[in-house]
Amino acid sequence: MACHRFAKRAKPRFPNLRPRCKAATQGVPGRRTPKYAGLCYTFHIMASIKRILVTGGAGFLGSHLCERLIEQGHDVICLDNFFTSQKSNVNHLLGRPNFELLRHDVTLPIWLEVDEIYNLACPAAPGHYQYNPIKTMKTSVMGAINVLGMAKRCRAKVLQASTSEVYGDPQVHPQPESYRGSVNPIGPRACYDEGKRAAETLFMDYHRANGVNVRIVRIFNTYGPRMHPYDGRVISNFIRQALQGEDITIFGVGRQTRSFCYRDDLVDGLIRMMNGPDDFCGPVNLGNPGEFTIRELAELVLKLTGAKSTFVVRPLPADDPTQRRPDITLARERLGWQPTVALSDGLVKTIDWFRSIDISEYRPPTPNY
Ligand code: NAD
Ligand code: UDP
Repeated sequence: MACHRFAKRAKPRFPNLRPRCKAATQGVPGRRTPKYAGLCYTFHIMASIKRILVTGGAGFLGSHLCERLIEQGHDVICLDNFFTSQKSNVNHLLGRPNFELLRHDVTLPIWLEVDEIYNLACPAAPGHYQYNPIKTMKTSVMGAINVLGMAKRCRAKVLQASTSEVYGDPQVHPQPESYRGSVNPIGPRACYDEGKRAAETLFMDYHRANGVNVRIVRIFNTYGPRMHPYDGRVISNFIRQALQGEDITIFGVGRQTRSFCYRDDLVDGLIRMMNGPDDFCGPVNLGNPGEFTIRELAELVLKLTGAKSTFVVRPLPADDPTQRRPDITLARERLGWQPTVALSDGLVKTIDWFRSIDISEYRPPTPNY
């Protein structure tokens, strides 16, 4: 009977969940079918509801992650200072009973009771993280200390959104997790690269010294709907430029390579890592191994948008990595994860989204673009 009481309580929170309890859906021989037959969410489901904090939850990846966790029925707290995002990314979630939005800066301590933490708060595009490099380093380091302290107190699991930038301008190609990287510690990208490396160190030290249940994922370039049109990242730049009839800005001669992962694949990888075995802390690479030169990407965007823009060459920024491609053997073996969306398919969806928004409603988060 108890599970039917839970079913009644759970219904508004789990509109999309399917009934699981055999007794409720099929009935028990010789007994009346329970009142909430077809709605009987078993103890298992109730026990699996978690209180989850997503820092940087209003951003491009964070907002999609919040959406997915809400659909799974969890209580989601989205924490963000809106430095590189805007409320419109999560407006549609505000009415959901299991969603809460907090304006807060992750460099400051905060006291919450949670079961899991996804730590995504950090400016991610070069122009944004270089705008206030000291704040970027503080966000990675003090943000990590704050979420790790919370995880230690609450005995929560905590996942760090690290980055392929920890490999710097890689001398090993493709990059396995065992590669220790080639980062210039005093260059303009160092505030981000070294901040993320320091955060990984803190995660592993809290794990070894305090037994905190940690996960580290190294995210390779990810794209999709809800990227900030003025974040200056290559895909958002090229699509916006193509749709507005502007020149496509290729930095250097465009021979540098990147591997682009569609956001749905990436969010799936984040959740798999969080739910994966406790003896697997990572770091694990999450990215799409398809590798493209920046010029190839520009040509593809022109083809898919049908735009007539011309290419203009701009100087290559300092320390811009010449090549990047993830080795995802570990993610395949330990998480059963691999990307499923091809670049051209993901670009079509992203272009459709860019066509659907009013770009004039967005303002560049920093004057760097
Ligand atoms: P994003 O800029 O859209 O999201 C970052 C979010 O963090 C934003 O909402 C921003 O306002 C918030 N934020 C920044 N500083 C904060 C602070 N001090 N306190 C609270 N909130 C703060 O970028 P994204 O692409 O969604 O990236 C999310 C995470 O994934 C970042 O940690 C980033 O380093 C990592 N990552 C992303 C990629 C990618 O290609 N998208 C690649 C590697 C790593
Ligand atoms: N890039 C470019 N034109 C742009 C923006 C970026 O050619 O308008 C290049 C940039 O120099 C880099 C690549 O595209 O080589 C990816 O840049 P992005 O900022 O998206 O990501 P990251 O360099 O952090 O991988």
